[in-house]
Amino acid sequence: MLTGIHILLTFMCNFACDQCFVFSGPNAKGTFTLSQLHIVLDEATKLGTIEWVFFEGGEPFLFYPTMIEGIRIARSKALSGHKKSILDFCSPKVPIFYEDIASAGSVNRLA
Ligand code: SF4
Repeated sequence: MLTGIHILLTFMCNFACDQCFVFSGPNAKGTFTLSQLHIVLDEATKLGTIEWVFFEGGEPFLFYPTMIEGIRIARSKALSGHKKSILDFCSPKVPIFYEDIASAGSVNRLA
């Protein structure tokens, strides 16, 4: 049973690490729009089994308003809106606005 989805919000990243398995970098193309996020989260809701939504990249904080709105959308659909950035185990490159994220969704785990 599928209980979680991982949304690679963007492939763009301010780093370009050799070991990056999604080949992110400053010139990487491909970033979700809000309308695309609505479609994906609508489909996830139809499954009826999704409990976790992870927002990853690339660096999702480069598209902070979209990431926050994605968490809000996930929350409004009774999906858990969680933010998880691959960069959390790379390095803290950008400020993390936990308060905004917490108010946007049910965030009981920030990885
Ligand atoms: S910081 Fe992370 S996401 Fe960015 S290029 Fe390096 S491994 Fe990839």
